[in-house]
Amino acid sequence: MRKSYVRASLALLISAQLIFAATATRAQNAAPQTTPAAALEGFTPADSAVERALEDRFRAIPKPESAREHLRQLTKEPHVAGTREDYQTALYVRDRMREYGISAELKEYQVLLPYPKAPTVLELVAPRRERLSLQEAAIPEDPTSASRKIIPLFNGYSASGDVTAPLVYVNYGLPEDYAALKKLNVDPKGKIVIARYGRSFRGVKARVAEEHGAAGVIIYSDPADDGYAKGDVYPKGPWRPETSGQRGSVQYLFIHPGDPLTPGAPAVPGTPRLTREQATNLPKLPVQPISYGDARKLLEPLRGQVRPAGFQGGLPFAYHVGGTQDVRVHLKTDMEFKTTTIWNVVGRVEGGEERDRWIVLGNHRDAWTFGAVDPNSGTTAMLELARGFGELTRQGWKPRRTIVLCSWDAEEQGLIGSTEWAEENAVELKEKAVAYLNMDAAVSGANFGASSVPSMWKLIRAAARDVRDPKTGKSVYQAWQDHVREDRPEAELTDESGTDEKIAEARIAALGSGSDYTPFLQHLGVPSLDMGFGGDYGVYHSAYDSFAWMSKFGDPQFVYHVAAAQIWGTVAMRLADASALPFDYADYADQIRDFVNETVKTARRRKLADSFDSQALLDVVSELGGQANRTKVMQTDLLAQIEHSKVSADDTHPRSIARLRKINDSLLAAERALTDARGLTGRPWYTHQIYAPGFYTGYAAQPLPDLRQAIEARNATNAREAARRIAEAIRRAAQVLKDGREG
Ligand SMILES: [Zn+2]
Repeated sequence: MRKSYVRASLALLISAQLIFAATATRAQNAAPQTTPAAALEGFTPADSAVERALEDRFRAIPKPESAREHLRQLTKEPHVAGTREDYQTALYVRDRMREYGISAELKEYQVLLPYPKAPTVLELVAPRRERLSLQEAAIPEDPTSASRKIIPLFNGYSASGDVTAPLVYVNYGLPEDYAALKKLNVDPKGKIVIARYGRSFRGVKARVAEEHGAAGVIIYSDPADDGYAKGDVYPKGPWRPETSGQRGSVQYLFIHPGDPLTPGAPAVPGTPRLTREQATNLPKLPVQPISYGDARKLLEPLRGQVRPAGFQGGLPFAYHVGGTQDVRVHLKTDMEFKTTTIWNVVGRVEGGEERDRWIVLGNHRDAWTFGAVDPNSGTTAMLELARGFGELTRQGWKPRRTIVLCSWDAEEQGLIGSTEWAEENAVELKEKAVAYLNMDAAVSGANFGASSVPSMWKLIRAAARDVRDPKTGKSVYQAWQDHVREDRPEAELTDESGTDEKIAEARIAALGSGSDYTPFLQHLGVPSLDMGFGGDYGVYHSAYDSFAWMSKFGDPQFVYHVAAAQIWGTVAMRLADASALPFDYADYADQIRDFVNETVKTARRRKLADSFDSQALLDVVSELGGQANRTKVMQTDLLAQIEHSKVSADDTHPRSIARLRKINDSLLAAERALTDARGLTGRPWYTHQIYAPGFYTGYAAQPLPDLRQAIEARNATNAREAARRIAEAIRRAAQVLKDGREG
């Protein structure tokens, strides 16, 4: 109630400024604005009106018909990184950007990529001999599913190997699953383990199996997780059919992503390379994905004890843990590792007054098969966005800052294209990058979701308020909030802090890993976000992630592709044009405080609460929050001064602009300050002290990573040191904000 009142009264104030805006040169072609709106964060009221008009014009450009055509072109053939078909998609993206008036170039790297050399052999040896097919069936309703170019089911960077051993069912393959098996006296050592997908990154499943001495790993898609237990399977419904498996990399990207042979450096000629044996992010055992049709043949005959709590999946029999000689399996993988050229496409919309500050947008282009959802719905959104930006620049728009559009290659193998580019341009990015805005699988349904650093929460929500949700006609923000409320049990909607402010806002998650924001945020300290529209999506990394699937289930009208382009472009334009960068470090401080409090609770449970100085941490968090608020106040004052001096034509304006720029730079530097060049324990490539992928989750973020890890490992010395370094980083960030206001 209170909030909307404030907004309404602000709107009245600002409507008076619209007359002023109409005379501004950049608004010459603007459509008449009838509904007055609140000033955008970071803009003077006059500039805000100009910006809104520009954004309206931009959002009118992306169209379902051209989105459909992009996706059709991009998904004609499977385009695994490093193949001829992948190169063709790079040319398609580059040429469209150029056609739209955006300069674009290919950027090549030579990286180590895995391909299956010979078909994997997986057979049941006992109780009977049977070879499994490992083939995804062609589906008549989906024409591309019969393509001979579809790469077989395999896990990227699996080792080659040939093992025959008893089979153990390890549930999701998490450390706690192995602990449950230990209680049953089941030892996976020397055995082949079969794990189901879900709850952790697949590379983590391989790593944990390796740590427990397993000889090989099979990962299958259980129908409980994305098959018939969820709904009708493809082609009747959107869920995974019986013969479908999930390809995917098992690179240990929680140690470092990118080319395995050039950690921390770009994979270009002249860079010294490790040997494959020296690489630290590659598994040493064979890993193979299979369908639940094939998995059933392995799991049904298993003996040993009936599954512990939580182990039962969706197949129609009681799961046993195995580990006995009753069921023995032969697994033979034959992989080829090739140093191969990959192609990023980098486009630029040159900025004006602050051209040396960059807003970087990224989406990967390579796919395990056709990649209609993952990732080319995002590529489509980027191309429609590029068409919009091209059109606006033709009409005279020059963003204040430079916008860089990146189409990454080899993301699927380990975020390789983005990581190599970030490593190559590290010095320049640390100086110039304002933000990194990622979209991977942009559309698999109608439900908006986002993850980001807390400083960008308000920006994302504000942009979502200005984009229309195609299905409901409400704003994306309203549809998002409605969906979150429907989805969540009543109990979870009450907020512990006692205010209703937080629950009124749809939640934005923390960034872990699993897409291309990782090198930007977690290696370089660039404020980052990831977003998209999700839905019932059971064909991830399968032969059916196709144009036919998208046309039938994901987005038949291609309207969410348009919405994705609109929201991505809106965020980018706002960051590119704002006089005062709308980053909110008070939200960041609040989030870190929550992280600290949660960590203290965990530490108490483990009797480690005294091992580190939590009060020192909370003190620097308060210091950061205080500095953030003072910075916000000064930004507001300076914007008001600029507005006033324009009206009264005095000359304080250039000085205020210069001070705002200094503050802008401090807001970038604050995120950089949260990194520590020494890196995290055991993984120096990861430098961010607040966010990293968890060692044992991989995709999900593990906030305050070193501290959490030390507590999990019950290592008091490491916990003390980690807390000290985190506090140092936060103190640096607070200091940077303070310095930014002075002078
Ligand atoms: Zn992807």
